[in-house]
Amino acid sequence: MALHQSKICMGCWEHLHLPVPLRGVASVPFRAFGIRPSRMNPNTCTICETMFERIMKKRHVIVDATVLFADLRGYTSLSQSHSAEAVSMLLDTFYDESAGAIWEHDGILNKTMGDGLMAVFNFPISHDDHAIRALRAARQIQARWREIRLTLPETAGEDIGVGIGVDTGQVNFGEFGHSHTDITAIGTVVNTAARAQAAAASGQILLTEAVHARVQGDLPEGQARDYQLKGFQAATRLYAA
Ligand SMILES: [Zn+2]
Repeated sequence: MALHQSKICMGCWEHLHLPVPLRGVASVPFRAFGIRPSRMNPNTCTICETMFERIMKKRHVIVDATVLFADLRGYTSLSQSHSAEAVSMLLDTFYDESAGAIWEHDGILNKTMGDGLMAVFNFPISHDDHAIRALRAARQIQARWREIRLTLPETAGEDIGVGIGVDTGQVNFGEFGHSHTDITAIGTVVNTAARAQAAAASGQILLTEAVHARVQGDLPEGQARDYQLKGFQAATRLYAA
């Protein structure tokens, strides 16, 4: 399924009521000023990405959002036993396929780090059902990866799976740090999603109780278990999806 390509930036339209053209003839003068589709999501623009403070009139906003972390299991040992080309192709494919799944559900691929990534749903493109969208993106990442990894030269026979963790709730979204102006989310939801991802087995998706409460119709029953997550004193209940 090809990604729906919006003619205008969905983020600027929602937050500024401004039709910033992303594609076609109308976008040409904008491109001359460096305004083009964002690498975080091609239906948002570089204004959304780099001028957060000017758009939102503050450096940070508290938003309800769903955060997804995904990570390649077994990547580190694989990178020692295979050529640099094979390993970088594996990683590029993982990022490309994951990005496609995230964008199809209107999330942003906010960060890539080593062999993992972080995605945010409900900002700058808002949807009330952002937790469900994140779950569907997670399932699509798993499905796409299971299929495409078998087609990669050199590493096709290796057991490289993806672990995913998802949490939802209030995050602090905006520009952090003074040396750069990248947008991201911070807060407990982000930390919990990262820890849930670390606890997930290869091929598994783990959801927090908050996500579970919002996606119940989409889940099989009886998949909950208590986990002792790193950095958390109390046990955390997570649901396999
Ligand atoms: Zn924009």
